[in-house]
Parts: sequence; C-alpha cells; structure tokens
Amino acid sequence: MPPSAGEDSKVFVRRMLVEVLAGREDPEGFFAMCVSVLGHRETSSRFLPLIQPLSTANGALHAALTSIHTDYFSKTQDDELELALSLSLVEMDDHRLSSTSQESRPQRPADGPNKPTAVSQGSSRVPRAGVIASGKKRDSPQTGASVKANSPQTNNTPEHAFKESDAMMNDANLSPSEKPKRSKNRRQRRKGAGRQVVGLPRSPSAPPPVLLWFRRDLRLGDNPSLTGSLEVGAPVIPVFIWSPEEEEGPGITVAVGGACKYWLHQALSCFSASLERIGSHLVFLEANTSSLHTLKELVKETGARTVLANALYEPWLKERDDAVVSALQKDGVVCKTFHSYCLRDPYSVSTEGVGLRGIGSVSHFMTCCRQNPGSALGAPLDSPVSLPTPARWPVGVPLNTLGLARMPRRKDGTTIDWAANIRKSWDFSEEGASDRLEAFLNDGVYRYEKESGRADAPNTSCLSPYLHFGQLSPRWLLWDAKGARCRPPKFQRKLAWRDLAYWQLTMFPDLPWESLRPPYKALRWSSDGGHLKAWQRGRTGYPLVDAAMRQLWLTGWMNNYMRHVVASFLIAYLYLPWQEGYRWFQDTLVDADVAIDAMMWQNGGMCGLDHWNFVMHPVDAAMTCDPYGSYVRKWCPELADLPDDLIHKPWKCPPSMLRRAGVVFGQTYAERIVTDLEERRSRSLQDVALVRREFGQYVDKHSGCDLVPLPPRLVSQALGSAHRDAGLVAEGKQFLLPVITRMEFKHQQEDPDADAASNPYNAVLKGYVSRKRDETVAFLNERDFTASVMHEGVQRRERLESNYRRMEGLPQPPAPRGRARRTPTAKDKFSVAPSGAVSSVR
Ligand SMILES: Cc1cc2nc3c(=O)[nH]c(=O)nc-3n(C[C@H](O)[C@H](O)[C@H](O)COP(=O)(O)OP(=O)(O)OC[C@H]3O[C@@H](n4cnc5c(N)ncnc54)[C@H](O)[C@@H]3O)c2cc1C
Repeated sequence: MPPSAGEDSKVFVRRMLVEVLAGREDPEGFFAMCVSVLGHRETSSRFLPLIQPLSTANGALHAALTSIHTDYFSKTQDDELELALSLSLVEMDDHRLSSTSQESRPQRPADGPNKPTAVSQGSSRVPRAGVIASGKKRDSPQTGASVKANSPQTNNTPEHAFKESDAMMNDANLSPSEKPKRSKNRRQRRKGAGRQVVGLPRSPSAPPPVLLWFRRDLRLGDNPSLTGSLEVGAPVIPVFIWSPEEEEGPGITVAVGGACKYWLHQALSCFSASLERIGSHLVFLEANTSSLHTLKELVKETGARTVLANALYEPWLKERDDAVVSALQKDGVVCKTFHSYCLRDPYSVSTEGVGLRGIGSVSHFMTCCRQNPGSALGAPLDSPVSLPTPARWPVGVPLNTLGLARMPRRKDGTTIDWAANIRKSWDFSEEGASDRLEAFLNDGVYRYEKESGRADAPNTSCLSPYLHFGQLSPRWLLWDAKGARCRPPKFQRKLAWRDLAYWQLTMFPDLPWESLRPPYKALRWSSDGGHLKAWQRGRTGYPLVDAAMRQLWLTGWMNNYMRHVVASFLIAYLYLPWQEGYRWFQDTLVDADVAIDAMMWQNGGMCGLDHWNFVMHPVDAAMTCDPYGSYVRKWCPELADLPDDLIHKPWKCPPSMLRRAGVVFGQTYAERIVTDLEERRSRSLQDVALVRREFGQYVDKHSGCDLVPLPPRLVSQALGSAHRDAGLVAEGKQFLLPVITRMEFKHQQEDPDADAASNPYNAVLKGYVSRKRDETVAFLNERDFTASVMHEGVQRRERLESNYRRMEGLPQPPAPRGRARRTPTAKDKFSVAPSGAVSSVR
C-alpha cells in the first residue's frame, strides 16, 4: 500500500504499523514496505527508532522486527540484490493491484512462481474487507454493517467463475464478480486462524474499548461484527452474556435445550481458545437482571463507547436487541448490529411483485428473494490474526459457572454423563466445522442429489449445529459450496430452506407452539404418555424409528430423512401433537433451531404453511434410507443378527429365526406399540375431514384449500399491491389466505368416511422398492457424468450468448421454466393452487 499523496512517510509507516498490529500485515511485508517507501538509508537509520514504542507494548513483535532489520542490513551485497529484486516485485504487484482497483487492498500473491522470497506468506484467501487500511469505510452488503468485503480478484480465474444461470447465485444474491475459489480457500482459512499472535500496545492513552457482544456467531472467519470492531481502531473486549430467560422468549420455545446447551458450552470453550490464539479472550458473564443491565455495567466498568454484535432474528431476541440498542444509544454509546446469521435478512424479504400464492414453499420464497433482491451477499471475510486488547479486562466468571454443561447426579453422588457420546461424535470448534465442510465437499456432496436420504451413509453435510451456533457462516458455506467441483442444486437450496424458516418465524412469532391452521388444533390428538415415552426412548418396536430416536439421543443429530420418518410416525400413526415432537427435538438435537424446527414440525403436523404431501411409512421408508439394515444394526444392536429383508419388520420373522438371533419381544427388543398402521392412517384422515367440516370457515370453497389467518406484515404487503393481488378481500379484520393443502385431505372431504387405502391421493410413501437399487444408482451416476459434461458445454454456450446479448444491449432470451414439486396440473382437480379467493372472517 503506497503512501497517499502528501502523506508524510513517517505517518505512513505508523499507519502500516497499525496494520501489522491488527494482523492485516505481516512483519516482513511491513519491513519490505518501509524499505520501498523510506529508501535504503532512511530505513537503516530510522526504522528502529520508529518501532521503539513497541518494545514495551509488544515485545515479541518488536524483537521480530528488530531481527528482520538486523538481518537485512547485515546481508552481503548479493543478498541485498536478491532482496531488492523481491521488493521491487512486491512493489510492482502492489502498484498493479492498486491501479486495477482503487478500492481493493493491494495484496501480495500468496503463492505462484513469482512469489518474492523476502515476503512472508501472510496474504489472505480473499481480499480483506475495506477496513482501516484504506482509510475509507464502505457499507457492507449485509444490513446495518459498515464493513464490506471487497470482491475477490475479479476476472482472473475464469474456470472458477459462477455460471450466470446458476440458480443459487440468484437465490443467494451473490454478485457475479464474486468468484469463489476452490478448497485452497478453506485450507488457507484454517491456516490463518492458527497464525501467530500480534497484540496491540496496551497504551494508557488508547481510545475507549469496543464491546464485542458474541451470541450465536462463535467464529473468527467471516464474522462482520468482529471485522467491524477492528475498524474502530480501539481495543476490543469480546463478551458473552448468558441470559436463559431472554433466550426462551415469551412462549414455550425450549430455545436452548439440554443438547444445545452442551454444544454451546463446548463451542464457547473452543471459541475462547481461538480468541486466545489471536491475543484476546472471551469474557463470560451471567445476566443477573438482563443483558441490557449487564452491558450497562460493562460500559461503566470499561469506559467502552461502542457495542457491536451480529443480529439475531428470533422476534423476541430482536426485540431485546432493539431495546438494548436504543437504551445504550441514549447513554451515548454507539451500537451497531451486523447481518450474517442468514443469507437474507428475514425482515427484508417481501412478497411484493410475487403475491402470496404458494407461500410457505421454498420456491415461492426463492422467487420473493429474486424479485426483491437485497444488497449483494459479498465475499466472506477473513479471520483476523490479532485483536487489540484493552489495558484492563473486565472481570468475568469461569465458563463452568454458566451451568451450560451441568450434568445430573445420582443419589450416590456420581455424575450421569449423558453427553459422553455427543462428545465422541463431534468436534465443537470452528476448525471442526471447516473439517466437516471439507470432508463433505470432497465426498458426500457427490451423492447428495440422489442419496441424501440414506441413513446408513454420511451423504449430507452434518453442518447444522455449526450453522446454528455460527461456527460457520451460511455465506461461507455457500461460497465454498459454489466453488466446489460438485454443486448439487438441492444442497444449495437447503440454505434457502433455512432462510425460509427464519422468515416464517419473523411473521409468526408463535410458530413454536401455536398451529397456524386453526381447524387442526381441534383434531383428536392423543395424550398417551406411554407412546410418547416409547417414541422418545427408541422403544416403539419399529426398528427404523427406534434406530433414529436412539441416534438422536446418543449423538444429538439425525439426518433430514430420518427426521421425517420419526415425525410422520409420531403424528400420523400415534396421533401425538406435533408440539411434543418439537419440544423433544429442541431438547435433544445439537442443532435445535427454533425457526427450522418449528416450521418443520408445523408442516409435518399438518398445521404449517406448507403441508408435507407425503407420510413416511415406518417400514417401507427403510427401502430408501436403510436398504441393507446397517443403520438399524448400528443403533439397535439387539437386532443385528436378523437378515436384511426382515430386519425392519422383526415381527414377521419365524420364531426359529428370532431364537437364533437372540431376539425376544418385550425383553431384548420392544413389542410394537401400535400394530394397526393402516387403520390408524385411515382414522387420521377421517379426523382431518371432520375438523375441516366443523371449521368450514377455514376451508376455501373454491379450491378446497385450508385458509390461514394472515399476519399483519403480509397483509400490508398484499394490500400495498392490492391491484395485482386480486384475491385479497378486505371485509373484516382478519385476512385468510388459501395455502397449499394436501390433496388427500381435499379428496377425503368429499367422502369423509372412506379409508386411507381407497384415497387415490394416499400420501404414504412406499420407498424405493428395487433390489438392484444401488446398481441402478451407480449406472445413473455414470450416465450423469456424460450428461453433466454435455450440460456444462451447453451452459458455457448459453453464457457466452447471454454475455454477447448484454454487451449488445439485446434482450435476454426467456429463462427455461423448471418443474416445481407441487406445480398444479390442469388435469388434476385437487391440485388447483390456492389463488384469488382470500376471504376474511369477523
Ligand atoms: C421434523 C424436523 C425437524 C427439524 N429440526 C431442525 C432443527 O431443529 N435444526 C436444524 O438445523 N434443522 C432441522 N431440520 C432440518 C434438517 O433435517 C436438518 O437441517 C438437517 O438434517 C441437518 O443435517 P445436515 O447439516 O447434514 O443437512 P444438509 O442436508 O447437509 O443441509 C445443509 C444445511 O441446510 C439447512 N437445512 C437442511 N434442511 C433444511 C430444512 N428442511 N429446513 C431448513 N434448513 C435446512 C441446515 O442448516 C443444514 O445444516 C428438521 C427437519 C425435520 C423434518
């Protein structure tokens, strides 16, 4: 970075020194820069006096710089020549980069044939945010932030460029100029996190410190508030305040259940260690009264004038944060929140121009995001390599005091360590997240599109807890996923699902406990405590369900397909209310996430905005997710000796086979808690028909769809475009919107007493019934390879065509229309999508 016009070289050196202290420049680079700016003689005579103040504040850095200086000036002429050559290369690079982009911070190439030997490898994976170095602040693409990531080296890696037609680019709003790099990025990110400590001088005249309030963003990489804190140019005090009442919110959210608390404890411990590696640490505090009160005390104690945090989107936490911000601002404290928890800020998503038809489905959500794009997502931010420390740290409490990992005790005083298996199953650190991501992108991702349902193979990313606790940012995940060799659209859409859940929660704050479709509250839900307990403990007598529930209990996780299987069993076959499932998941999942969990359980419980158009059968589903029984063998070892074709239905085994396998029902393995699955399904359907009749005002006469009361935000969006949204009728105060409704329900309405088997839209999934299933998949994969090569060729041509049209100002050809999962067809009278008829009651 050359000095700006008129800048005194001494001032420039000081400015560069701040960069070194903040970890954005390494000592060798700094020295090289000094030689090039001050010149050989000046550096020889003035360098040591210039860095003298460091000798007391940061002895290690001072010693490092002194030794570089001594080394350099004790070299022979030949050495000097070599170094000078290297320096001029550095300079050339710097000038070239700065002239290419005025805004981007000049970086030395981290590798490549021309890498100057005298310059260390401190360069980062992507150009860093426009922070102090440039002297300019720029608005972040993410809300509320004043930090922005520069575009990474544009136009220099065409092979990594995003396809313009790439769905995810539209979905996630990544700018086309922001090109992801390959796995090198992930490795470099990890390397960066482990680099040497460089601390700021603890000068008594340092500016007032910044309070960096960590909540669910326990990472160094791509952390906007952390990067923002460096911009302030003041010591940074990272704090974590534990306030269980505030986390829980107004209803029964079980926001931080047992498994989550345990994860949080471990994650905090790992994160504190990461902060220590960069010369800082995390101050733990308990909010005795409220977080606001604790923050006010901290402000008083430390003299901080700035509080920074990444935004949370649960409505009750947002409300709390808004109150904290306004109270602190009244006291003259600058407060800033940064967006990073989701790809899209859920409060910025609008249905304007899209309407409400199909609301609740991910395709509707993605259309809303495309139609109303927010600010660009930007590139992930690097991990800082140091954090300026305050002269005096506030007094915190030990992490253990927060009681997040407290284990119950037996009467004899011994501890019940229920988390032992969770500990064995996960690495709770940010590096653990990176490793998982890397492993997934190198392996599981290749099977994701077709085989993500398999419970017996690690075909999904297993990143959900890391995303939940912010040990990996969704932006970074998307960035790496888009830069990977294999990019299944299905995986990238999952992040849209995540955002959709947060959007729903912001519109329906009571999503975790209140059914959105009123009639279904009146269903004959069961209150059989025995059934619930059997389901929770994995003792239903259905091996697939039991295996999944035991995996959940032991590891805190199960894959998406298995979550559907156990949820279907609880709701469609045991008639237990979805809230029971939700609460159990919240307590036992390490990734328990109020927004996602509530949305999924509402949908599964027939009450959400989007009905699942399927019911998983507890035996047939095994064809898809555990065709050889190895998943069941792992989690229900008492059934291990049963043959593949009977392991999912042991009650069908002849007594001799059971004897040989050592299976005794009611002793070694549970009896089935319900046996009449078909009858139960029929009754469930009849019950639904009954309540839909009883609460006819919540069923749209025209389409047969359920009607859901609209939240005020959607009403105002819809009314704002009333002329386009022709269906909205403002007759009363409560607006009702027809929503996606399972076809079998609509049909059942016509013949309420019919049994499930005679319903042509019976939603029970049969699973893949094919003995040659794996061979077929292998064949398809092979064929797909050829197809994908051809597909890429076509896409390249389309891209060129599109670029040409853009340059020539010609209109783009219309986008090809994809086939949505629930696209209605004219032939099917029950698949008429809810449309115009928005009615109102009262
Ligand atoms: C009844 C039920 C309850 C669920 N509860 C939770 C929960 O509490 N927390 C949670 O993170 N996920 C939940 N899910 C969604 C999904 O099952 C998990 O996100 C997924 O299994 C996590 O594994 P993964 O990281 O390997 O997912 P991948 O398939 O690799 O997906 C990558 C990421 O996308 C997101 N994602 C995936 N599927 C969904 C989805 N359907 N909705 C929203 N986001 C999704 C997750 O953040 C996930 O980590 C639930 C699903 C069901 C059916």
